[in-house]
Amino acid sequence: MMDDKLFRQAMGRFATGVTVITTEVGENIHGMTANAFMSISMDPKLVTISIDNKATMLEKINISGSYAVNILSEQQKDISMHFAGQTKEKKEIEFGRLMDVPVIKDSLASVVCDVDRTYEVGDHTLFIGKVREIEIKDGDPLLFYCGCYGTQEKVDYAR
Ligand code: FAD
Repeated sequence: MMDDKLFRQAMGRFATGVTVITTEVGENIHGMTANAFMSISMDPKLVTISIDNKATMLEKINISGSYAVNILSEQQKDISMHFAGQTKEKKEIEFGRLMDVPVIKDSLASVVCDVDRTYEVGDHTLFIGKVREIEIKDGDPLLFYCGCYGTQEKVDYAR
């Protein structure tokens, strides 16, 4: 049987950006760090995210039917760590709004989607999102490689 560690190490060698997915149920906003994000189709404009079936985010998006993908800048490593549950301290986040969906302020891009379809695949669920609105800003991306954050100049193995 394929070794989990080897699989994780191999997938970690695919360098990605970092996003925070945001959604809202009633008056409760929920955010989650994700790098399993992909653009799928230009016409119609579709993207996908892959969410762990154990994540709180799964039920939130299933109920709300919409979400935003916020592509983080290199200044937003603390935001990524916060929404991945990697920091201990409680943090008040002030969210922005795009098409009435909560977004992370100062992201390089916020992409607001309505859930088009979902596919439960293994221990994750793919949400195909139909893009409704986009906002972009200039800046440099936060990167993720081999389980570590980095910038365009260098991957910070010390984190
Ligand atoms: P929780 O663990 O409850 O929430 C996550 C954190 O966000 C908590 O600290 C919570 O306090 C905070 N938070 C949520 N909403 C708010 C709010 N309104 N105000 C303030 N704080 C809030 N997992 C995946 O399923 N798919 C991926 O593609 C993926 N990619 C990842 C990429 C990276 C670089 C990292 C570091 C992690 C990734 N993860 C991914 C793991 C995922 O981010 C964590 O497992 C996360 O904790 C799961 O979130 P949750 O929805 O279960 O909610």
